[in-house]
Amino acid sequence: MSELAGLDIKFLAGVGPKRASILNQELSIYSYEDLLYHFPYKYIDRTKFYSIREINSKLPYIQVRGQITGIETLGEKRQQRLVAYFTDGEDTMELVWFKGIKYIKGNLKPNTDYIVFGKPSEFNRKVNVVHPEIEEANKSNGKINASLQSFYLTTEKMKNSFLNSRAIQKLQENALKSVNGKIPETLPAPLIKRLGLINLHEALLQIHFPQNAEILKKAQYRLKFEELFYIQLNILKMKMKRKILYKGHPFAKIGEYFNCFYQNNLPFELTNAQKRVIKEIRKDVGSGKQMNRLLQGDVGSGKTMVGLMCMLMALDNGCQACLMAPTEILATQHMESISEFLEGIDVNVALLTGSTKQKDRRRIHEDLKSGELQILIGTHALLEDVVQFNNLGLVIIDEQHRFGVAQRARLWKKNNIPPHVLVMTATPIPRTLAMTLYGDLEVSVIDELPPGRKPIQTVHYFENKRRQVYQFMKKQIDLGRQIYLVYPMIKESEKMDYKNLEEGYESVASAFPPEKYGISMVHGKMKPAEKDAEMQRFAQGETKIMVATTVIEVGVNVPNASVMVIESTERFGLSQLHQLRGRVGRGAEQSYCILMSSYKISNESRKRIETMVRTNDGFEIAEVDLKLRGPGDIEGTQQSGISYDLKIAHLGKDGQLLQYARDVAQEILDDDPLLEKEENFTLAKQVKRLSKTKVNWSVIS
Ligand code: ADP
Ligand code: MG
Repeated sequence: MSELAGLDIKFLAGVGPKRASILNQELSIYSYEDLLYHFPYKYIDRTKFYSIREINSKLPYIQVRGQITGIETLGEKRQQRLVAYFTDGEDTMELVWFKGIKYIKGNLKPNTDYIVFGKPSEFNRKVNVVHPEIEEANKSNGKINASLQSFYLTTEKMKNSFLNSRAIQKLQENALKSVNGKIPETLPAPLIKRLGLINLHEALLQIHFPQNAEILKKAQYRLKFEELFYIQLNILKMKMKRKILYKGHPFAKIGEYFNCFYQNNLPFELTNAQKRVIKEIRKDVGSGKQMNRLLQGDVGSGKTMVGLMCMLMALDNGCQACLMAPTEILATQHMESISEFLEGIDVNVALLTGSTKQKDRRRIHEDLKSGELQILIGTHALLEDVVQFNNLGLVIIDEQHRFGVAQRARLWKKNNIPPHVLVMTATPIPRTLAMTLYGDLEVSVIDELPPGRKPIQTVHYFENKRRQVYQFMKKQIDLGRQIYLVYPMIKESEKMDYKNLEEGYESVASAFPPEKYGISMVHGKMKPAEKDAEMQRFAQGETKIMVATTVIEVGVNVPNASVMVIESTERFGLSQLHQLRGRVGRGAEQSYCILMSSYKISNESRKRIETMVRTNDGFEIAEVDLKLRGPGDIEGTQQSGISYDLKIAHLGKDGQLLQYARDVAQEILDDDPLLEKEENFTLAKQVKRLSKTKVNWSVIS
């Protein structure tokens, strides 16, 4: 394959420098390989021929065999059209061109059999085909045979240079012919045989020029498998390597801190899921290997407590621990709740954020170095080089999806023996995506909420119900509750957002006089300190309504807030909506989520809203999200630093195949962890190639 990757696309017949530069820019196609891996997005059956009588404008595509009986140019200068009368021997229909008239006119011949293909439409109550594909029926010699016609994504700019789908197909043909069957195989022959796959050359030929639907399936299967397989092989190999290389602190015992906390301080019974996860972690950190674990748990499932108890394990084994959160608000909240949980136990905890005073900062740095300080909670400030630990044994990262891979890696390096790493996320990730994004991590799931939570009631209203919504809000405030009102934030137009928010604020303020109700406003343009102060006012109940953009999305905990009103719901993504909803339902009271939207919403928005109304289950929501949007758009995918530019497999649809590919990869690595055996030469070569081009694997922890 590497040979094909080395062939510049501009040398392919039919391309040349100008088209090459368009292909570079528009589709990132630089080589023969890039072109051959630009797969069709759909196929149309070209085996069926219609008679003209059968055709109506509702049919998506038709294909007819026949002859031209006459041509004329109609209409005024600028609006000229060329009409060809086309007969199948029984009936006649019109073929119409508005562009390229001269060229087409000069090429159409009488008494010649043509095949016409296109989308029928209706004009003056007669069926016609505008800009059909037309070619001589017996001029197909030399062409690669296909019964299904491929369609390729193209852009406006490409079309302007006559690089339409058909032209791309022609280029594919040229590329396949020029390599002349010599496409090097990228999977080892024994594996191909064992798994019953078709070979790469056949797969690429059939994916572009399918002989029939059955063989097309085989081609797709082979290419999807390979794509998923190499990703998994890569990830699992990394994981194996890390296991071999790094020892990790063995947390051999459960001691004073943990036991004392468990017996005296635990304010509630742990849920079974929490207990199970703590056991999983305990086993991992006790194994003598470094732990790298992802803890997934829906909003409010009690991840902080699990994190805290793991930190106590570290302390029991003479190590320090740290907890990093993405925002100052969150870090402060963690500091508060953890200090409260630990009351009466002699543990040294400190908070380090951007706004920690210089003097305190210096003391924290010193105490960390001496080992005096046992638990450090904070924001990105923890990453700074001056933050040096005495013996860091455990790193916990909260709301992992808000951090980049590189940041995770920096915490790793804070110790000679790499610390155990626990990353926590409340953005549920579908299993398939987790296997890919975090495929090198062990995964624990808290799939149970603490008892006594009432499911949040979610409703959807159109604009016309605003008065009723305000009345409902009033009632809730009279009952002593507090309310979030959230407006969307779009990066491209911060100004407009701000306007939305301000208008929203005014509308709310006129319905709820601020001197009576107290209204807070928080948005992304405020300084952290201002934001915090406003959040604190709300948290302490001074203000009843919090008008905000999505800055409050992550982790904030105000149990007395029981209503979440989301404005312009259609502009939010599903996982974001779920996160926002998770801000309520944290206390004992019945909570509500009200989704407001305009009348004009797309089908996709409608599905998102329906899903929100139907279920509170974050994992179900994540699955729907993945199906609706595809993995590239799922929140956290970009930040994770890994973007799989999947060309053919679909994480939402090919879950089973992904699992299979992972199993096959694991099996191979069990036998040959670093792919050193001769029989695995092809695999090692491909993995190396992939790791160079796609992802910086080395920093993933
Ligand atoms: P998240 O998983 O979203 O980070 P938190 O850790 O903030 O959730 O927990 C949400 C709330 O539930 C907190 O107030 C926490 O003290 C409480 N909580 C956690 N575990 C339990 C439990 N087992 N029983 C009752 N309440 C719990
Ligand atoms: Mg949390």
